[in-house]
Amino acid sequence: MPSPYDLTRDELSLLLAGEPSYRVRQVWEGLHARVQRPEEMTELPAALRESLGEALPPSLRERSCRLADGGETTKWLWALEDGALVETVLMRYPDRVTVCVSTQAGCAMACRFCATGQAGFRRHLRQGEIVEQVVAAAREAKPRRLGNVVFMGMGEPLANYDRVWGSIERLHGEMGISARRLTVSTVGLVPGIRRLATESLPVNLAVSLHAANDALRDDLVPVNRRYPLEQLAAACAAYVEASGRRLSLEWALIDGVNDREGDAAELAAFARPLAAHVNLIPLNPTPGYPVVGSSPQRVRRFRDSLTARGINATVRVTRGAEIDAACGQLAAGAPAG
Ligand code: SAH
Repeated sequence: MPSPYDLTRDELSLLLAGEPSYRVRQVWEGLHARVQRPEEMTELPAALRESLGEALPPSLRERSCRLADGGETTKWLWALEDGALVETVLMRYPDRVTVCVSTQAGCAMACRFCATGQAGFRRHLRQGEIVEQVVAAAREAKPRRLGNVVFMGMGEPLANYDRVWGSIERLHGEMGISARRLTVSTVGLVPGIRRLATESLPVNLAVSLHAANDALRDDLVPVNRRYPLEQLAAACAAYVEASGRRLSLEWALIDGVNDREGDAAELAAFARPLAAHVNLIPLNPTPGYPVVGSSPQRVRRFRDSLTARGINATVRVTRGAEIDAACGQLAAGAPAG
């Protein structure tokens, strides 16, 4: 069954055939602008509310919903129609509310240190399943406005390009989320980055780099063997040129692996020509990777080394680690406790 957010406006009109034509607008705006379930659209006659609710059931069924960071972070585990499990994380900050959405159930990229990659790939999410995660978060965020969406949950967004792009157009065009508040994070799929550069909507691009020499990156991020650093850099440059957006490079700091002075030098050399911003993430623990994250002191030293080399770098404040909701920890396992 389609999610209400898989339906086009024309398909909704067909579903509402026989109703006065203004109903289409009412329902469409209810779904997107007011993030309502059909059952909640009190301007509709009760019988229509009920039949629409039955025709358009939500695709996401809540398996669990957990809080962390003193209630500022919420993580959901959803079961999809076919039993696949995905996670979504809502993060409230003093100045903004952000949701981190999944784009696939599992992931085929097999990055060594990422819990999602360790578990393997199950399937692509449909557009509606992606948009519904944002809708759920927007409902939960109220009365605050959910303003930022990062495609950094489970899965590789550019491996599920059409559905991810469909969801971006829906979030931007119908839910009013500005392109500069939408961020696609990729392991570095070069054809996807090049395709992104042809789109008219300039979203932010984050590339999960983690290593700036091919030997180390081949090991940490296996897709590097297919799209090595030189090709990746060229695609990133094309994106920056086409979109006018600042590129972010994500770097999970792994003790003794990619947090040395030489690593900072290589990263700086990669980032500089792209005028990229570097996001440092202290590695979060995952069951399948025995190496630990860098100590706070080494994280600071690495950042200072980048800064001294003229690179703009910030350390990401980790959210949700106590509920396995932090970067790289999303695995859709049975919730503990
Ligand atoms: N597949 C996409 C989006 C999901 S991952 C991508 O690779 O960008 C979101 C971010 O978390 C990526 O930067 C990823 O490399 C990072 N990450 C994965 N495992 C991590 C871990 N154990 N600790 C810290 N960050 C991690």
